[in-house]
Amino acid sequence: MLDATCPQGPTVQAGPTEAPTAKAPVQSGQKGDKMHYIGMAGLSGYLPQCTVTGPTRTSVAEQLAFIHERGQNWTKALIRDWYADLRLPIDGNEYAEIVECNCETPEIHEDC
Ligand SMILES: [Zn+2]
Repeated sequence: MLDATCPQGPTVQAGPTEAPTAKAPVQSGQKGDKMHYIGMAGLSGYLPQCTVTGPTRTSVAEQLAFIHERGQNWTKALIRDWYADLRLPIDGNEYAEIVECNCETPEIHEDC
């Protein structure tokens, strides 16, 4: 820094020179403030019939597990792999999948 004249100056911050973005009401400063996850279930090769959303992969996996009455192991596999098979005759869907999203309206994904 060219103007670092004070040896005990305050901790260097990148913030002050940046103009605040007016459109961001959330000010936690973390990237991914709007980050959420979408859980989808449907038939292979088709758009999902069912979508849920939540703040974590676990939360959406648990919602999908509840909807399809699947157990812990299935839920864990879905969280781990971001994908898990479903049994069409029993569950009514063939797959479940989790994806990341950072749109500003996560509620629009809720459609089951
Ligand atoms: Zn979204």
